[in-house]
Amino acid sequence: MPLPLPEITPENEAYWTAGERGELRIMACKACDHRINPPQLVCPVCLSRDVAPMLASGRGTVHTFTINRQQWIPDLEVPYALAIVDLDDQPGVRITAQLRCDDLADIAIGKPVSVAFEQREEVFVPYFTLD
Ligand SMILES: [Zn+2]
Repeated sequence: MPLPLPEITPENEAYWTAGERGELRIMACKACDHRINPPQLVCPVCLSRDVAPMLASGRGTVHTFTINRQQWIPDLEVPYALAIVDLDDQPGVRITAQLRCDDLADIAIGKPVSVAFEQREEVFVPYFTLD
C-alpha cells in the first residue's frame, strides 16, 4: 500500500495533475517571477495575486533525505526514501517527495535527480530518481 493521496485544492491542483502530461508545474508570481512552493495564491515576496502554475525543469539536487523503515500504516511498503530536492529553477525552491532507486544506499546529499510521476486515481504523484 502506498502513502495516502493529497487533497486537491485550487492552490495545488496543477502541482498534482500536470504529471499527466509529464510536466512539473510550480506556482510562480507573474509580477516578480518568484517560484512559490508549497503553492499559494499570493506571492510571499511582493504580495501580488497574479500567480499561476509555471512549467519547471523537473531537475534538481538532493538537499537532504531520510529513509523510512517504520510501517506507519498497514501494508505500507518499507523501506522508502523521502527527499527534499532543491529545484534547479530557483535557489531555495524545494520539493519533498519520494526518491526511488534500486539501492537506497546510493542516495547522497548533492546528487542530481529528475522528476517522474506515478498515477494514482486522478493524481499524478511526483517522485524523483537519481540521474
Ligand atoms: Zn511576486
